[in-house]
Amino acid sequence: MKLDTGTTFIANGQLIDGTGAPPVADAVLIIRNGCISYAGDAAGAPPVPEGARRIDAKGGTIMPGLVEAHFHATYFNILALEDLDIKYPVEYVSLLASVNCRLALECGYTAARSGGCLFNCDVWLRKAIEGDLIPGPRLSPSGREICSAGGLMDWNPEFRKIGMEGLVFIVNGADDARKAVRALVKDGVEWVKTYPTGDAAAPDTNDHHTLCMTFDEMNAVVRTAHNHGMKVTGHCRATEGIKNALRAGYDTLEHGTFMDDEALEMLLARDVPVVPALYFEKASVERGPDFGLSRRVIDGHQETLDGGAESALRILRAGGRIGMGGDYGFGWNPHGDYARELTFFTKDVGFTPLETIRCATKTGAEIMGRGDEFGTLEPGKLGDVLVVDGDVVADISLLEDRQNLLAVFQGGVLKAGKLAPRGETTVMVNG
Ligand SMILES: [Zn+2]
Repeated sequence: MKLDTGTTFIANGQLIDGTGAPPVADAVLIIRNGCISYAGDAAGAPPVPEGARRIDAKGGTIMPGLVEAHFHATYFNILALEDLDIKYPVEYVSLLASVNCRLALECGYTAARSGGCLFNCDVWLRKAIEGDLIPGPRLSPSGREICSAGGLMDWNPEFRKIGMEGLVFIVNGADDARKAVRALVKDGVEWVKTYPTGDAAAPDTNDHHTLCMTFDEMNAVVRTAHNHGMKVTGHCRATEGIKNALRAGYDTLEHGTFMDDEALEMLLARDVPVVPALYFEKASVERGPDFGLSRRVIDGHQETLDGGAESALRILRAGGRIGMGGDYGFGWNPHGDYARELTFFTKDVGFTPLETIRCATKTGAEIMGRGDEFGTLEPGKLGDVLVVDGDVVADISLLEDRQNLLAVFQGGVLKAGKLAPRGETTVMVNG
């Protein structure tokens, strides 16, 4: 049975519908019992329904709730990846993750797709959020990630005794890869996150290192996952790794950093969305020195940032789909900074504000497989809506500051923002 969430009438603001269409200057949005019943010009709007809660947008912006498409709920603003497995037990990490979920919602993110998670915390966070036990974005969970032995997430030499088994399944060959996916089936995840290629941050598998996973392993993951109705994504930076992922049938690519013409053609032919997650790279370059990142690693992040920005713009201009997600959860790239990704893509990469917003709303919902439910402001869709004090098209960085959010609606319920009844969460510093 659906809860009656009443009727809300929002007026006196410009409306961005999330499709990329130009804003409607003087608009009205009506949410009735959890779903949008009108979104458009004030002149054509029905009269204010009796008993409706009225929200004055103060000449600001009415837009869809944001979608964080590469969310790490359990990354507790760590200083090194191994912190995930050795600093706290999973019991405490779960609590930290629930705080991150609340923070994401308060930042205007009404939905999020996991890009990897310690144990199966996000599966249970989804349950707690859907049960209204804790506030948070609608979650599409991934559970633990899959990496082959000696690959990106398996850099610790044996003597250190850090297994990373909380975060990743370390697999050797196709049989092992299938076994890991079958474990995830039972855990109830929607996405399988893999590590096909290297990264600037790794000590021995750099950005151009392709064979962190073999094609056989990737193919086994996809066949098994698809057989069970799960989708597959992967950390794909190196060109050959991107092509292998596309050949194997990956549903999305994380990063898609170094694309040549052939990779771009393959991507467009299958219309596979890419989540570049570039703010992590920018933060690593800018703040990395304060956190002890080496010059070699920082130079690698700069190369990734440049290559990733170029690829993302090429993909978008060629008609491909880009999702917004900034890989937050590191000390130098903490939770709460989510919308900095949007500012970066608009001001530095060359997306228009409306393109960036479409990527952060409509495309994000499509990546989650829920494009028919939310991501745009259209009659019949869920009432996941932001009311922002100010013109987001003129200055997209307004979204970075929670103080600018008047209202964050999720399913027609006023969950956060200045007009919401509840207070704010304190932003954690380094877990
Ligand atoms: Zn990530």
